[in-house]
Amino acid sequence: MSSRSAVARACRALTGLALVWAGLVLSVWPAAAAPNSGGKPLTILIGLDGFRVDYLTRGHSPTLEALAKAGGVAQGLTPVFPSVTFPNHVSLVTGRRPAGHGIVNNTMWDPRIGDQVFRLRDRQAVTNPAWWAESEPIWVTAARQGRVSSTLFWPGSEVKIRGLQPRDWLPYRHDMSSMERVDHLLGWLTDIRPDRPQADFATLYFSEVDSEGHAHGPDSPAVHQAIARVDAAIARLIQGLERAGLWSSTHLVIAADHGMSYVPADQQIDGRGLLRPFPAARWQWTGPVSGLALGDEDKAAVLAALGKSPHLDCWPKALVPRRFGDLNHPRVPDIICLARTGWSLSDQLLSFPIPGQHGFDPDHSDMQGLLIVHGPRIRPTQLGRVSNLEVYPLLCVLLGIRPAANESKGILVDQLLQRPGSVVGSRRR
Ligand SMILES: [Zn+2]
Repeated sequence: MSSRSAVARACRALTGLALVWAGLVLSVWPAAAAPNSGGKPLTILIGLDGFRVDYLTRGHSPTLEALAKAGGVAQGLTPVFPSVTFPNHVSLVTGRRPAGHGIVNNTMWDPRIGDQVFRLRDRQAVTNPAWWAESEPIWVTAARQGRVSSTLFWPGSEVKIRGLQPRDWLPYRHDMSSMERVDHLLGWLTDIRPDRPQADFATLYFSEVDSEGHAHGPDSPAVHQAIARVDAAIARLIQGLERAGLWSSTHLVIAADHGMSYVPADQQIDGRGLLRPFPAARWQWTGPVSGLALGDEDKAAVLAALGKSPHLDCWPKALVPRRFGDLNHPRVPDIICLARTGWSLSDQLLSFPIPGQHGFDPDHSDMQGLLIVHGPRIRPTQLGRVSNLEVYPLLCVLLGIRPAANESKGILVDQLLQRPGSVVGSRRR
């Protein structure tokens, strides 16, 4: 009882802080002078890795709460399948599902590329243009239409795609703190010279909420501390933009790639044991979503054996549920398995548990990510759940560019943008 009322007191104190912030944010953007920029619009896409949507209500993120109150906020940003980092980051900047942009998982084999395995921490693989040949990230489309981009980390930004790359980019450094990432981006955004025009589009990527979520679980104090650090970094970004006269013409699109689920240590599925009768088959993907290359094993026999596992649903890749989208891609293994939320498949007996995991059914509440959109053209709006495919066309409208082919429905464009001459909030509650 007493600890609960202490939490309530702490929340009230933080809410007060958030209201002060809301006042700051609201008072700043409509009127602030823009001495350097001349009001040239800037759109910043902020990737909050693993920031589950309910983290916003935990009282550790006054800046994000203030932005949500003054802008558009969704009940959940629904990831594409599989609900893992690289596919979803690429969907955010292409508006396409994984089979459409080719980055179908964090780990991939491709018979057309040969021996190389695509892995997140393998720089040679991540910077091999062959893996990116099917995608056209927004900075590529934007560059063709005369827009300048600065990307402080985003999957695909470290490689020339269709011959084009952001003007400013850095090789990924996981050890760079959230504050350092902000300062580095601010350095680029405020370095405006006659031969170096102000960027139109920027990305910023924060990894620490995801890292702490994996290591300690979504309800841990470590996650709450990471939320507070990321929130403080975003506050510093806003202050820096304000000082440079850029804030009044800036849109922030803050999007999480997926949520996070607690996985108890005793809820591991023994993937190696399941394959014992099938020596030619091997797991290419493991975890909440797993993928199996059959080798020359019999598909029906393998599926029958996997079907005996009570915490796993498995399908041939052509027969996954339609709501997961088309998975018919050479980089998707023959059989896809999805663990029940809270369970995870491993192909080795892990010496340590991973208490926080994602990759589960994208429609599960644990997988919903945060979406906040804020800026002069955005009206305060509370949205329901939105597919993350919808972020891309909104970015294109804010950048004033023609989008590449994509799979979105234009929902955010319809619901968030101020209409010329419209009264905020009059159209829909
Ligand atoms: Zn992620």
